[in-house]
Amino acid sequence: MELLIGAGIFLAGAIFGRIHRPRKEPPKLRPPTCSCEHARSFHVNGTGACMYKMYDSRINHTMTCTCQVYDGPIPLSPSYFAPEVDGN
Ligand SMILES: [Zn+2]
Ligand SMILES: [Zn+2]
Repeated sequence: MELLIGAGIFLAGAIFGRIHRPRKEPPKLRPPTCSCEHARSFHVNGTGACMYKMYDSRINHTMTCTCQVYDGPIPLSPSYFAPEVDGN
């Protein structure tokens, strides 16, 4: 009887541990980021200049990111449409 209870606890623990094991997050679920390390949403129209505000403690001043063009991955979305703009 004690052996049965012990086996039951072991089984329950094994199942519980399997359910609650943290799953590895697939890399494709990470938000797309630019080479400036800021999310695509910070960039104008998703492809333009980065509007991320950075605080520079050396000069005690808040600056906008110097990145001018988003160069990270663009997620495929049927509802998203961005016309090609020639910046040159
Ligand atoms: Zn940036
Ligand atoms: Zn950027």
